[in-house]
Amino acid sequence: MKIKKYLPALSMWLLFEIIAVTTWLTMGPIFYLFNFTYIGTSIAIGLILYTQKKKYARSVVQLAVGLYMLVYLGIICRENMQIEGFWFYLFLGVFSAGTLHYAIAKIFGPLLFGRGWCGYACWTAMVLDFLPFKTPAGPRKSIGFIRYIVFIASFIFVALLFILQVPDIEYIMWLCFIIGNIIYYIVGIVLAYKFKDNRAFCKYICPITIFLKPMTYFSLTRVRVDKEKCISCGKCEQVCPMEVEILNNSRKRKNGTECIQCMQCVDACPKNALKI
Ligand code: SF4
Ligand code: SF4
Ligand code: SF4
Repeated sequence: MKIKKYLPALSMWLLFEIIAVTTWLTMGPIFYLFNFTYIGTSIAIGLILYTQKKKYARSVVQLAVGLYMLVYLGIICRENMQIEGFWFYLFLGVFSAGTLHYAIAKIFGPLLFGRGWCGYACWTAMVLDFLPFKTPAGPRKSIGFIRYIVFIASFIFVALLFILQVPDIEYIMWLCFIIGNIIYYIVGIVLAYKFKDNRAFCKYICPITIFLKPMTYFSLTRVRVDKEKCISCGKCEQVCPMEVEILNNSRKRKNGTECIQCMQCVDACPKNALKI
């Protein structure tokens, strides 16, 4: 019985081990084995802590994975995993750690685990989630179009680097990663205080959501309510940082593609009516 409780952690660890061994054997560098084993182990530890009802479980995963990606992969190994890095490797036609990162975490992975990336691994949200506005104080703002501007601007920027044959683009990409992250943190913190919402940056600015949201629509894992158990107390929706219409099980529910699988709603439900 006790082991059964830890099956999600074990399954997640095994899934990442399969990815680790497969990418290592098919692509060569042992880095892939280390990389996915590390990420899978971090997530599995987080799931074990969550099973043990530790409130800090998600923060542990966010810090373990987010800091690894930001500091080791991004700054030390110079892999730009921001949106401009995606365009860079795409134009270059190179299959790198950055490309794999996008494929697994942000494009195909969400078909399986929705926006788990946003809840457990993103190094931007890793910092923003420490701010005091855990749930939004006011209604949604109509400024979500900004993410499209950032998306298109990043594409034009990288395209121009190639068209103009700017030398040493790899170095520029590394600088972009560092400067871009500093800007993201500043904008994210300013918006969080302005809108009293830690996740304002995710809702209005982040260009990655252009990939994440449509794929998440079809996600295998998502929060579902058991209508038999639900007493319509509304506690789940009160604690949701992403304003998801939790009590509607349809994939078309309001802000359904915003769910970051943080489990706040599941934990808040007095009737154990919610499951992922
Ligand atoms: S929406 Fe963007 S900034 Fe927010 S958690 Fe997801 S990837 Fe990170
Ligand atoms: S509170 Fe529930 S619905 Fe809202 S983001 Fe977290 S897991 Fe998703
Ligand atoms: S917290 Fe639970 S019981 Fe209350 S509305 Fe949400 S699902 Fe229903």
